[in-house]
Amino acid sequence: MKKQPSSIARESLKLLSERKLPPTPANYQACYNEIADIPNVAGFPEMPLRQISQALTAGNPDQVAQLVSLDSAIAKRSWQEVQAAILGFSNSARIGTPKANNATPLLPNGFMTSLASTIENGMSFLVNDDAGFSEQLSELLLALRSPSMDIEDIETRLADFSRRLSIASEDQNEIKTMLLKLLHLVLENIGVLSLDDSWLKGQIDELLVAVAPPLTLRRLDDAERRIKDVMSKQSEAKNRSIEAQQELRAMLATFIERLSLMNTSSDVFQNKIEASARKIERVKRIEEMAPLLKEVIEATRTMAEDARSAHDKLETMQEKVLAIEAELVKLHLELDHASTQARHDPLTDVLNRKGLTEAMAREIANMRRKDTPLSIALLDIDNFKKLNDHLGHEKGDQALQHLVKVARQCMRPVDSLARYGGEEFVILMPDTLLDKGIQAMTRLQRALTKEFFLAGSDNVLITFSAGVAQMTDGESGSAAIKRADQAMYLAKRAGMNRVLGA
Ligand code: GH3
Ligand code: MG
Ligand code: MG
Repeated sequence: MKKQPSSIARESLKLLSERKLPPTPANYQACYNEIADIPNVAGFPEMPLRQISQALTAGNPDQVAQLVSLDSAIAKRSWQEVQAAILGFSNSARIGTPKANNATPLLPNGFMTSLASTIENGMSFLVNDDAGFSEQLSELLLALRSPSMDIEDIETRLADFSRRLSIASEDQNEIKTMLLKLLHLVLENIGVLSLDDSWLKGQIDELLVAVAPPLTLRRLDDAERRIKDVMSKQSEAKNRSIEAQQELRAMLATFIERLSLMNTSSDVFQNKIEASARKIERVKRIEEMAPLLKEVIEATRTMAEDARSAHDKLETMQEKVLAIEAELVKLHLELDHASTQARHDPLTDVLNRKGLTEAMAREIANMRRKDTPLSIALLDIDNFKKLNDHLGHEKGDQALQHLVKVARQCMRPVDSLARYGGEEFVILMPDTLLDKGIQAMTRLQRALTKEFFLAGSDNVLITFSAGVAQMTDGESGSAAIKRADQAMYLAKRAGMNRVLGA
């Protein structure tokens, strides 16, 4: 039941004396408010409240209604209603909490959906080659188009998207620069090239493979190095071939000169013999015969010497021609293999140690730039010596090729595979955490149990032990390989055919 003002006044005086408070108007009002159960404020600050009400800007019809209620509460001097209207005003704000004197203006209708369409049209080509990025874009678009938008969530997503976008566009720029460099190299090479058309075709093939989607810096980088290797071999072969041509031409000139000399000397010989023949016809006495025969023998000897020396010269020339021909064939063969030999293992065609060192440097730089994890696996085939002993070295070679084939099928295109030693391989897995790297190696083990190596009519199961290390900050590639090697060793010790993390 509500108390009457007169009884409140009486009780207030009683409370004042009980608390031994000086009977000032402020103390009286405090006691009055306490008994009347109303907030203890000194007077109703009508003017300041009206100023606040006028400073507030409504962003929607609800807020307009709350401001009307606030004005009427101030007019009624009702604290409860003032409080209700201010709370109502604040709850009706759709976006964020308006700050005093700095209310956030509401975005016009459709702003977020237009923003979504702009991002979608502008960025989709950039995200095509990266599944994670593409997923991030779809989620951002969904958030922007959602009717119940969460501005804070959108802000975080936009910030993440923008960070990734800056990395992606950096990549695009680098890809463009590399492509131009590649084209430049090829054009330069066409100019130098004149030995054999098939070489040109080989390079164009390399380029076609390199520019097939998805375009990655790794593949372009690889193509560039292969083409450079071929080019240096090619110019070496071309120079050698020009030299050889000059040598042959000089030899041929000497030979022709020699032939004409032989011709004249045989003419001289012919004349001498004919003259001797005529003299012989006219000989009457045998004593006259001896000097004539001497003449003939002399002429024949000179002729024979000339002929022998011409024969020797011809033989030397033929040997030289054969040697140069063999040398050129060898150069051509070297040229055919140049691109693979420099960075690739000839038996398995995966990267060799040199190729691995370069790939490692590239992946470590990428890891740092993109702030993504990089895992490195080292695998060693179990009991490979026994396999060689039982099936022979050739089958051993084929087993290595089989392992590489299965590994290529089950690794991602961005992973790099390298032959580290005889039956040891290293796999670089960018954007991969340790446990995912271990899973990938276990997947390869399972694949090998499904795809047997066929040695004649025998199915041979190839198993391996592996260690996986995730690169840590500031660690060198060789240090990480060493850790993976130690884990691989522990896997051997633990009974082989298993994968351990470092
Ligand atoms: P573990 O299970 O402990 O690894 O024993 P393992 O026999 O596999 O290893 P070990 O290091 O004792 O022997 C490796 C063998 O691999 C010895 C070598 O003859 C063979 N090997 C190395 N390179 C090649 C190659 O290119 N072809 C063939 N067929 N064999 C190779
Ligand atoms: Mg070994
Ligand atoms: Mg081994």
